[in-house]
Amino acid sequence: MLLLLGVALADSLLQSVSAGPATKSSYLSKQQPLVRYVDAVSCGAFNCLRTNAAYKIGAGIQIPCNATRIFKKWDILEAVQSRSLRPSGIVLKSYRDGTVLSTQTLVPYAEDRYGAPYLLAHRADLVKVLADEAFRLGVVFRFGSVVTELNAVKPSILLRNGEEHRADVVLGADGLNSTCRIALLGQAHAPSSTGDMAYRFTVKIDDIMRQEDLCELLDGYPVICWMGPYAHAVCYQLKQDGLCNVVLLCPDNITEIATVSKADVEEIKERFSNWDPKLRKLIELATGALKWKLQIMGPLDIWSHSSGRFVLIGDACHSTLPYL
Ligand SMILES: Cc1cc2nc3c(=O)[nH]c(=O)nc-3n(C[C@H](O)[C@H](O)[C@H](O)COP(=O)(O)OP(=O)(O)OC[C@H]3O[C@@H](n4cnc5c(N)ncnc54)[C@H](O)[C@@H]3O)c2cc1C
Repeated sequence: MLLLLGVALADSLLQSVSAGPATKSSYLSKQQPLVRYVDAVSCGAFNCLRTNAAYKIGAGIQIPCNATRIFKKWDILEAVQSRSLRPSGIVLKSYRDGTVLSTQTLVPYAEDRYGAPYLLAHRADLVKVLADEAFRLGVVFRFGSVVTELNAVKPSILLRNGEEHRADVVLGADGLNSTCRIALLGQAHAPSSTGDMAYRFTVKIDDIMRQEDLCELLDGYPVICWMGPYAHAVCYQLKQDGLCNVVLLCPDNITEIATVSKADVEEIKERFSNWDPKLRKLIELATGALKWKLQIMGPLDIWSHSSGRFVLIGDACHSTLPYL
């Protein structure tokens, strides 16, 4: 029995279990289910996976070639591609007037160079493909289950409702503010603020198409980045729901404790008021937005317990920012 905490990399483990003959036989010889998957998110989010509703899971995600190469190995690349767009390239523009500063073509470069495509998807679509594969492999999902304690030697977890679950292996994928990390290190190793934040919103492609001068932003599905002082903005199209994803990164002004909160579109307009008129028009089309405090964590000395039965993965041990 393998016990997973947290959502995103459950599938990678599943696939490695199902792929390697040695691992496969050792796990399959034991009683089903092979994997229980425990996550703090609510049943609403679970329904979201089932119905593919976009809310709660966030907006777009750029899926670079290192990830698509793994999807290829797992035989789910086609399913991910059917819900993704393949951008023609990444275009860097000046924040002042949109002058193109540099272009990196991605088709066919990404596949020629890395053996797999660079893709753009809605996070809900990506999670759906991963979740479908997990369902197919027989994973038992336990949503709305918050892990409060972890024993790395047994190994076992304790849920907020008092239930204890034991397993052969526990894999902690519980993100930046990881409970598993505290259990592994025996002390808190809190993330710190980068001093930056990200505004995120989506705009209807139909609304963009109505403005003739904005149509070039969609031509060939490019990833467009406006580069400015201490800030940049990124926009790209999503295949499902006729949406364009927009992310604006700039110095942090979030006073709330929460890492994600509702953003005021007027505030975004104000902060980007001297940027390329096309970006400003895009912001005008926003009907609502969220803002993220961007946090990062210093490197950890260890990612796994000496028992060999408890491992951290993902942001829990190497948090990732949306820029370098
Ligand atoms: C603004 C922004 C844009 C980004 N854009 C991209 C991009 O375009 N491409 C890209 O590859 N990456 C991007 N990233 C990075 C990417 O989002 C993260 O690296 C990724 O989500 C990490 O996945 P994870 O599963 O490790 O953690 P998370 O996605 O944080 O998932 C952790 C899960 O654990 C659960 N959990 C937490 N605590 C508990 C508990 N006690 N008990 C049970 N469950 C628990 C949570 O409910 C959650 O579902 C971006 C990040 C940000 C902030």
